[in-house]
Amino acid sequence: MQISKRADVPDLDVRRVRGNVIEQRQISPDGYHLILARDGVDVEAGRLVTLHGRSLVEDRSYTVVSGERDEHIEVLYRLIPTGVLTPQLAALQSGDTIEWSGPYGQFVLRDPARPIWFIATGTGIAPCRSYIRTHPNLDITILHGVRHTAELYFRDEFSSYKYHPCLSADTAPDCHSGRVTQRLKDIHCPLEAHYYLCGAYEMIYEVQDMLLDKGVSPDHIFNEGYYYRLDP
Ligand SMILES: Cc1cc2nc3c(=O)[nH]c(=O)nc-3n(C[C@H](O)[C@H](O)[C@H](O)COP(=O)(O)OP(=O)(O)OC[C@H]3O[C@@H](n4cnc5c(N)ncnc54)[C@H](O)[C@@H]3O)c2cc1C
Repeated sequence: MQISKRADVPDLDVRRVRGNVIEQRQISPDGYHLILARDGVDVEAGRLVTLHGRSLVEDRSYTVVSGERDEHIEVLYRLIPTGVLTPQLAALQSGDTIEWSGPYGQFVLRDPARPIWFIATGTGIAPCRSYIRTHPNLDITILHGVRHTAELYFRDEFSSYKYHPCLSADTAPDCHSGRVTQRLKDIHCPLEAHYYLCGAYEMIYEVQDMLLDKGVSPDHIFNEGYYYRLDP
């Protein structure tokens, strides 16, 4: 069914469907990879879908983690045990159905030919996977900040890129200790690159200030804020 278009994304062909759950994989203690039948809906890399709960106040946004040519629509989410929608999502099994709509959002790649820096916390890594599955030859540098190694979602798919995993509550031989902001302090940031920041708002505000201090133009910085951090 076609539904009315959101004012901020006037050109998108938004559809609402009741789709089949193809598969649900728990990929970390609280990370889930949910795979939904595409139902003929095209979703550009970096755009999002709304997963619909039992009523309007339970609807939540999720950036797709799938590439444009992938057979299914995929999302990555963190289960918030006290949250409204994610406990409902975590109960889904293959063959169940869920209402979803999309595409929405604006966090698409502006220029895939440019050097790209993707700086994320937690599940904010989702659009990065969507980008590289859609554009495999990107010149991309990835900084991913999480608490524990188990939350370095899809890390095997990032290993052929310039990948900087950062752990704030753990140590591992091939990871940086500390937040992405600590890692960013020590790195040269090319001024011609485009910077995509995604995840916790606190990280986005801090990284934005750091990039501006390093001389990056505000026109080269793009943000997708997901949440305010629950953890200290
Ligand atoms: C544009 C956009 C895209 C988003 N894309 C994703 C995505 O791809 N994957 C994803 O997991 N979430 C994503 N989110 C967050 C998502 O929409 C929900 O807010 C989240 O899944 C929690 O929903 P809930 O109903 O279970 O919890 P709620 O009852 O809505 O919230 C409970 C608390 O959890 C916090 N919270 C929400 N998400 C997280 C998180 N990931 N980590 C830590 N704390 C969090 C909130 O700040 C809130 O205080 C996105 C949000 C926006 C605005």
